[in-house]
Amino acid sequence: MIFLRTTTFVTIFALAVSLSPAAAPVAQNVNTQDMDRSVKPGDDFYRFANGGWLKTVAVPAGQTSYGTSAMLIEKTSERVRNLIQEAAAAKPATGSIAQKVGDYYASFMDEAAIEARGLTPLADEMAAIAAITNKASLSAYLGATLNTEVDGLTANADHVFGVWVNQSFTDSKHYVFHLLQGGLGMPDRDAYIDPSSKMAALRAHYQSHLAAILKLAGVADSESKAARILSLEIRIAQTHAPDSDAADVFKQNNLWKRGDFDVKAPGMDWDAYFKSAGVADQPDFIVWQPSAVTGTSALVGSESIDLWKDYLRFHLIEHYASVLPRAVATEDFSFYGTILSGAQPMPDRSKGAIAATNGALGQAVGELYTQRYFPPDAKAKAQAMVADLITAYRTRIANLTWMSPQTKEKALAKLAALRIGVGYPDTWIDYSRLEVVRGDAFGNMRRAEAFNRSRNLAKLRQPADPDEWRIDPQSVGAVIMFSPNAEFFSAAILQPPYFDSQGDAASNYGSAGAGIAHEISHSFDELGNIYDSEGRLGNWWTAEDSAKYHAAAAKLVAQFDGYCPLSDLCVNGKQVLNENIADLAGLLVAHDAYVLSLKGKTDVVIGGLSGEQRFFLAFAQRWRRAQGETALRRQIATDSHPPGEYRSDTVRNVESWYKAYEITPGDKLYLKSEDRVGIW
Ligand SMILES: [Zn+2]
Repeated sequence: MIFLRTTTFVTIFALAVSLSPAAAPVAQNVNTQDMDRSVKPGDDFYRFANGGWLKTVAVPAGQTSYGTSAMLIEKTSERVRNLIQEAAAAKPATGSIAQKVGDYYASFMDEAAIEARGLTPLADEMAAIAAITNKASLSAYLGATLNTEVDGLTANADHVFGVWVNQSFTDSKHYVFHLLQGGLGMPDRDAYIDPSSKMAALRAHYQSHLAAILKLAGVADSESKAARILSLEIRIAQTHAPDSDAADVFKQNNLWKRGDFDVKAPGMDWDAYFKSAGVADQPDFIVWQPSAVTGTSALVGSESIDLWKDYLRFHLIEHYASVLPRAVATEDFSFYGTILSGAQPMPDRSKGAIAATNGALGQAVGELYTQRYFPPDAKAKAQAMVADLITAYRTRIANLTWMSPQTKEKALAKLAALRIGVGYPDTWIDYSRLEVVRGDAFGNMRRAEAFNRSRNLAKLRQPADPDEWRIDPQSVGAVIMFSPNAEFFSAAILQPPYFDSQGDAASNYGSAGAGIAHEISHSFDELGNIYDSEGRLGNWWTAEDSAKYHAAAAKLVAQFDGYCPLSDLCVNGKQVLNENIADLAGLLVAHDAYVLSLKGKTDVVIGGLSGEQRFFLAFAQRWRRAQGETALRRQIATDSHPPGEYRSDTVRNVESWYKAYEITPGDKLYLKSEDRVGIW
């Protein structure tokens, strides 16, 4: 399983193609103002498409690069902010999702009510911690805090463990309990064990933060307790799996039966733990990081109950800091905001309120968002484009030269089974059982967590649903789930300039279409080839497929090795190969799909550009990015994607681009046919 967030998704947008060319205002059809027509497309297609934009764009202060993705995140955040604030002001019907969204936000913003309550909302939880007297009651308390809002990419669950409810790697029909490591107050293991002076200083700051929070809660001996809590967290961190394991699903697929916990991970009273977590009857588990489960359980057995109680008091306050009085929130920001993230001053509270509302009621906000910005008609248009992409893939796979006939059969079966969600889910989460009360920020957060927890754990008793959405519609992004075999593209990423349901189809296929086709290719390449049609683990390529694939890819490595933006800086073709193959697949398939969509008709001319020209222009515009030299050097050194200019140059491998722009052997980007790369 892997999440891939698509990076820059850039295109142009337009009026409906049914308008006659004469009636179509140029500026709204194609982003011609972003082009530089003084550049020959065959010499520098990226600057031909983006030269105007590159001359005027500025990287915003505090950022290292800027592109359409960043622009869309800004624009969408503003829209979401307005929707939530409108719901808060409008007093919608009690029980409606708008009431819940609005009241959640308004309560979070009501600092006077929060201040007036002080730390009293924590009283019953504090009493529960005080009542811990032995390993059984400690284990029961830890079980009650099991975090259900994590996924396979979570490096450190908030609370000692987290559960991700997902289908298993051997059985696609049932959900399984994936147990994940957690319990650290700093982001990851390295913050605790890295011996560098920078990390040592960070630990000292964290210890001061621990002491300050305990002091605010009236805990005596806060300084010495802070030192001991830090030392406990260091020992928890030492048991956490290293980051390098996170990329290897075979290291995470560890099947444990309920009885294995007592044998393999003594210390915790597991009966008490699982009973309190509400999963006493759970027989099967996938233990994502066995070392952390074994190690943390041993610490439950070996460390004093009093130390664990102090640890839990700190984490309780920390967990609810955003809905506690200002003194707590300010102390929290001084560590997590300033020390850890370098941010200052403290952002406007409304920013945190929006994030909290999105976090608690993600699909409720998504429903309000799509009602306004992504109607059913937009979804239908995007689905029709996806259907064309799938048809195009079917033909491409059938004609591949590097895949053996038996592998093609498996690839086609996987393609047929692939679920692609666009815009928003067909069935929304039902929030009717979640009560949101205006003026009770703490209670709302607690009830929302309980709601999500019982919803997540209930899945363990239901058949696995491959169409379960893994991204909110209002998040600008996409998610690939290899297990199950599904991909999701949010409404917020399917908006202009990437995709315009009312706009020019050629541009939609060249931009969003190529982006979706890029992601689809990952389900069939060296990322996806270890997951079958149902998302079960098992490599379905043969050794011969792999050898032929790499032989075909060698030319693409050489092509990208030849791109040198600075005299001492060239792209590393091997490092970016997998993404370049996906870009190439995305472009080829999206072009096939565009041709299919025309059903034999000729596309209109808009802004002096043919449909074919607009298709490739949109592709080149989707990769544009403004960045300085430092960011460029960092990208080339570390990123698996090459700079946008060279992603745009993927067109050099595609015959139709040569035709569309009449590229000739004298042009700088011209490649002889034997030097062009196919692969897909
Ligand atoms: Zn990719």
